[in-house]
Amino acid sequence: MQYISTRGQTRPHTFSEAVEAGLAPDGGLFLPEHMPDISGRLGDWASLSYARLAAEFLSLFAPEIAPDEWHALTARAYSKFDSPEVAPLRKITGKTYVLELWHGPTLAFKDFALQLLGLLYKRQVERSGKRLAVLGATSGDTGSAAIHGCIGQEGIHIFILYPHGRVAPLQERQMACTGADNVFAIPVPGTFDDAQSVVKECFGDAAFTAAHNLSAVNSINIARVLAQCVYYIWAWLRLRDLAGQGTDAAGGVEFVVPTGNFGNVLAGWMARQMGLPVRSFRVATNQNDILHRYFTSGDYRQGDVRPSHAPSMDIQAASNFERYLYFLLESDPAKVREVMARLKNADAVNLPAADPAFRSTSMKDDQIIRVIAQMWKDWRYVIDPHTACAFTGMATDCTSIVLSTAHPAKFPDVVKQATGMEPVHPTLEALKSLPLVTHRLPASAAEVKSFIARHS
Ligand SMILES: *Cc1c(COP(=O)(O)O)cnc(C)c1O
Repeated sequence: MQYISTRGQTRPHTFSEAVEAGLAPDGGLFLPEHMPDISGRLGDWASLSYARLAAEFLSLFAPEIAPDEWHALTARAYSKFDSPEVAPLRKITGKTYVLELWHGPTLAFKDFALQLLGLLYKRQVERSGKRLAVLGATSGDTGSAAIHGCIGQEGIHIFILYPHGRVAPLQERQMACTGADNVFAIPVPGTFDDAQSVVKECFGDAAFTAAHNLSAVNSINIARVLAQCVYYIWAWLRLRDLAGQGTDAAGGVEFVVPTGNFGNVLAGWMARQMGLPVRSFRVATNQNDILHRYFTSGDYRQGDVRPSHAPSMDIQAASNFERYLYFLLESDPAKVREVMARLKNADAVNLPAADPAFRSTSMKDDQIIRVIAQMWKDWRYVIDPHTACAFTGMATDCTSIVLSTAHPAKFPDVVKQATGMEPVHPTLEALKSLPLVTHRLPASAAEVKSFIARHS
């Protein structure tokens, strides 16, 4: 299995090469050259543990890593989750289930991909003998999940920039209270975009990038998307255990996915392309509704980001959307290049009609509060503001699986406003008394590069 770029101007890469590169050299995103058909394997996979299922699935995409080694990697990656099922599927009503994706170390779904990515980085360091400096910018969840994937890994240093004073206090603590000497939490003045542009400038310096073996952690690594496919398969298998084989006859299943960067829902859609029998997906956005506008009216145009109660979805440029575009544009990289160039210039683009397997909804902040309150009142189930965005426009003619992307205790203020109670989690409580270690730097690539040079 080789990996091609959505923009078609990069030689085919192996899985390991594509993981190491992150972004393709031509500016595109990596995709597997073909989608394996998994439909005939689902029966065999039904009895596997989460880690074993992940190993079987990922082996199809990276045959250069032996199945036993894959199993060692996934067993380790998912050993830090606080549920034996890793991703428990919970029944709320006869037709509504919640897939809890927040049992990992940072209590958000990004742990599924980043625990594994940290181990893939480690494997790379062991094989090449070269130290790795991982660099990224975050507005919250990605940074902490990336850090927890790299904590204590020999030969890896991780540097995460974030806008000073603009990430939630608990998210900052998750990054800055690890006590690990290979982790550097770096607040910089300005917004997330300012932090992001410093990171981009660092990567623009090819000599520096090569000298320090700099690797980007962001939402577009192909390993992240593939790791996320696994929990869709897992959920589909568990639904059959809970609801029986009749689910398909009863209208099939719709996955409802709170999304901003389109990374999570893209993984589900790819699993469907591989033969997972999913009826449909609902893209659930907050008030930053570029994806909702696209799926309802065909209009894909970036606006300004308006901060919401679901901050990890405050995005107007859905970076993973390019992978879906590639399929939508008949796998023609020339068409992808043209559309991406027009988007960059903020020109109007005409996209073909969306795959009818997608629906979408969007939710404003006041409704997020009402939904959290209602879920608590009706079902005694507390959800976080991102998950809340899923609970509108629920399908009536099929079973729904809502992907719950974060533990409510990560967003205590909004949840307390809705339910009157402050949600807590022991992991987060423990952080409150630990010393905060940050490395404040100016928003300057020169300063950040010199810091990395001194500490990696
Ligand atoms: C990152 C994140 C999302 C959005 O993920 P996408 O990859 O954009 O779909 C949703 N909820 C939470 C809690 C997140 O951290």
